[in-house]
Amino acid sequence: MERFDTVVVGAGMAGVTCARMLADAGRTVIVLEARERIGGRMSTERTAGFPVDLGASWIHGIRDSALWELVQALDIPTREFTVGSFQVGGRPMEHFDGTGTPMDATASSQWIADVEAVDRALVGVIARSSPGDSYLDATESALDASGLDPERIDQIREFFRHRVEEQCGAWIGDLDAHGLDEDAIDGEEVIFPRGYDELPRRIAVGVDVRLAHTVRGIRRVEDGWIVDTDHGAFGADDVVVTVPLGVLQSGALEFDPPLPQPAARSIARLGMGVFNKIFLQFPHRFWNEETYVIRALGEAGERWHSWYDVSAISGIPTLLTFAAGPLGHRVQSLPDAVVVADVARALRALYGDAVGEPTASWVTRWGDDEWSRGSYSHLPIGASHHDHDALAGPFAGGLRFAGEATWGEEPATVGAAYASGHRAAESILGHSVDRADFAAAIVDRERSAAR
Ligand SMILES: Cc1cc2nc3c(=O)[nH]c(=O)nc-3n(C[C@H](O)[C@H](O)[C@H](O)COP(=O)(O)OP(=O)(O)OC[C@H]3O[C@@H](n4cnc5c(N)ncnc54)[C@H](O)[C@@H]3O)c2cc1C
Repeated sequence: MERFDTVVVGAGMAGVTCARMLADAGRTVIVLEARERIGGRMSTERTAGFPVDLGASWIHGIRDSALWELVQALDIPTREFTVGSFQVGGRPMEHFDGTGTPMDATASSQWIADVEAVDRALVGVIARSSPGDSYLDATESALDASGLDPERIDQIREFFRHRVEEQCGAWIGDLDAHGLDEDAIDGEEVIFPRGYDELPRRIAVGVDVRLAHTVRGIRRVEDGWIVDTDHGAFGADDVVVTVPLGVLQSGALEFDPPLPQPAARSIARLGMGVFNKIFLQFPHRFWNEETYVIRALGEAGERWHSWYDVSAISGIPTLLTFAAGPLGHRVQSLPDAVVVADVARALRALYGDAVGEPTASWVTRWGDDEWSRGSYSHLPIGASHHDHDALAGPFAGGLRFAGEATWGEEPATVGAAYASGHRAAESILGHSVDRADFAAAIVDRERSAAR
């Protein structure tokens, strides 16, 4: 049996960060990854000749972002694309009212002002909420108190429902009232014209990553741990498990002894949402040149409501829309062609025959993905951000967890995965790891390899 100082389970952003930091510090480390690729939920498809990010696309706010510092140090090109936390305004947007009619500037401004006013009131309602209150309870209280007419209330209600679906992959009635507390965007947002998976792949260069190695069980033994896979067993002093929360919840990994209570409790209390992407390419652009986002309100946007113009990545007119929460689950059982036709139909209700036949499309199914079992974590009623951090450990014998679901400050993001991998490495090493040194070592290694 091969033996290492540390076995890391999962080669997503958290896993490769942790492993790279440990290897840089002179430790022997191996990463066991079930997929045949590195990156996990950072997944870039390139067969069409341009990158399509099927998982993460954005850095959600580059101000004071450790992730942004890393991307800059590695000189990875980015493109500004600020969408905010499902923002209502601030960028060129095309709004359509509940009947599918374009809203003029006055109607759009009124809509933005309505949402902003209710959102301001919502802050107080959430602060006064009781344990057990859902985000739906909070938004309904704020809407009741708004004094707006019923039609305007209906549109904002729909908007709040969609916001929770996009940010959390969950139904608004299942989310805790505090479920969006950490959902703040600081600074501009950016996307990756070369594909986001470049980041974890470059971090992983030189790390011993065993692809197509599915971990089945993690056993504590007298002198450390044995990690059982479909390709044999690996021994280690420490184990860092970075598989997604959905995989932990499924019971696909057997822990012996069973997980300590704090970890088991967090896994049970936290939620794994479903958020799927649908990219459609068109022969011609039928939306305005400067438009960032198309948004349909009320009934017109009941199912498909928001489209983001990501044409800049391929140079081909491309819209990205999302199926999240209950709709995200539903689309997973439908063939691509049915989903694409339904999205195109919704666009035709807004733009008529100007919407040509889609020339290419991509539809994701993260909830059905065996190695992810969902898209990212959120707080169901009764859970708190403490549950994220309580999952990290360390637990007896040197068992640790990392990954987006273990980072309470900004869960559900690449930034969280990076920070959690960093924390796990520091915890094992017993000293801090400077992020700038970490980035510089990656660049140095690449330079030496190129020589
Ligand atoms: C559609 C979508 C869009 C997103 N958009 C954004 C965004 O724009 N910005 C953002 O910041 N975040 C976004 N996210 C979230 C972001 O992708 C994740 O938070 C982050 O990539 C998680 O990294 P991780 O290392 O925690 O987990 P992962 O990347 O999931 O890595 C875990 C690894 O464990 C492996 N694994 C699972 N089971 C086993 C097993 N039994 N044995 C061995 N290996 C196993 C998996 O294959 C995977 O490679 C998005 C996610 C999705 C799904």
